[in-house]
Amino acid sequence: MPVLVVGGAGYIGSHAAHTLKRRGYEPIIYDNLSTGHAELAKGFELVVGDVADSAKLAAVLKRVDAVMHFAAHAYVGESVVDPRKYFHNNVLGGVALLNAVLDSKVRKLIFSSTCAVYGIPAKLPIREDTPRLPVNPYGDTKLAFEHALEAYGRAYGLRFVSFRYFNAAGADESGGIGELHSPETHLIPSAFEAIKGERPALEIFGEDYPTPDGTCVRDYIHVNDLAEAHVLGLEYLDRGESTAMNLGTGQGHSVREVISSIERITGREVPKRMAPRRPGDPAELVADPSRAEELLRWKAQRSLNQIVSTAWNWASRQGKH
Ligand code: UDP
Repeated sequence: MPVLVVGGAGYIGSHAAHTLKRRGYEPIIYDNLSTGHAELAKGFELVVGDVADSAKLAAVLKRVDAVMHFAAHAYVGESVVDPRKYFHNNVLGGVALLNAVLDSKVRKLIFSSTCAVYGIPAKLPIREDTPRLPVNPYGDTKLAFEHALEAYGRAYGLRFVSFRYFNAAGADESGGIGELHSPETHLIPSAFEAIKGERPALEIFGEDYPTPDGTCVRDYIHVNDLAEAHVLGLEYLDRGESTAMNLGTGQGHSVREVISSIERITGREVPKRMAPRRPGDPAELVADPSRAEELLRWKAQRSLNQIVSTAWNWASRQGKH
């Protein structure tokens, strides 16, 4: 079955495309390469185009049965200082894509949403019925797209899954694709940059949180566990239903625990220093993944150590070409 992977030259989209291919689907990557990388799309048909280019989308949508939408800006901090960029791309661009889908015969769409739609939840672990109250423009834009999907679903019979990712991390076991952000802000690749001397030190953003060791707790999920859920999401859509599902492991790890795992696996010390809290960071975010486990018969398989070792395998190959 042919599937259009919009944003498939990015981090999570490229892993989804590889997993689709391994499972016998025929992914076509659609990406404007603004933050994506053609090298992550190597071995796939790549259509270079923007989500707002309805003519280009109309042509390629004729050739597929379903769409996965990964194309979005995804830096929380940047969304605070430049919300225009986020609303433009994630909402206006997203809705343009949605309209192009509606104008085609395709009625199945899988959307990359985020636990940022919940903001600072009152209760942990986070279930899907937790009120959606984002605390930054990034989360606002993802929630706006979720609302559009829900309305289009009710009115036009579009079937969708909004997958709310917790902390995507790790890299494909092949070592051939991985995370490539510029600038890098995420915890694990930032720690590798410190190990490699590409930044003076990893900053630990706050150690006075009400958590066991004072640092923030997050639910880190391997990018290929996410990718596998997307493939199962296509089968779910064939059953004619639509919903939102959390994708996480259900298990939290503190920043210090992640650093310890990195030091153990790489055998190197992470140069680090304490820094103030990062604005907008909740103390703890952990998923209740039971809805996805039940509806998809899926469960995250990979541990924090596997996340770190696959990410290190990828990161230590970068810059050597
Ligand atoms: N973090 C940190 N130093 C960094 C980057 C991240 O201490 O250089 C912390 C951050 O405060 C959060 C966790 O690591 O608690 C995960 O952050 P990341 O940016 O990787 O993902 P996010 O939770 O923002 O999606």
